[in-house]
Amino acid sequence: MSDNNVFIRIIKGELPCSKVYEDDQVLAFKDINPQAPTHIIIIPKKEYRDYNDFMTRAQPSEVLHLFQKTNEIIELLKLQGNFRIITNAGADSGQTVYHFHMHLISGAVLHNLV
Ligand code: 5GP
Repeated sequence: MSDNNVFIRIIKGELPCSKVYEDDQVLAFKDINPQAPTHIIIIPKKEYRDYNDFMTRAQPSEVLHLFQKTNEIIELLKLQGNFRIITNAGADSGQTVYHFHMHLISGAVLHNLV
């Protein structure tokens, strides 16, 4: 399934990133084009195209791990009570990198989307 997108290349160490957290399953790093003072990309290292693909194919333990680590990153960065998590799926939603990821955004007044 790999198309060697930028996130795969970051996981492989072929492209640099500003790492916030890493373990054997999860990588979190600063977005190269931040939309707020804090803008972190959180990804599973295994390849999934988007949220739906992740939730359909990943083991429940992988899902739990990713969301637990996301919460730990929120606490590590002291963002409790003041953040937004976004995941885009498909071109119409704005997805540009087809490796499932969550945007963790904070540090500015975020305008309502919904
Ligand atoms: P999407 O538009 O797919 O939801 O989000 C992709 C995100 O990846 C964008 O916010 C974009 O700025 C970020 N991005 C794209 N290429 C790179 C890169 O090489 N390094 C980092 N750190 N972020 C990237």
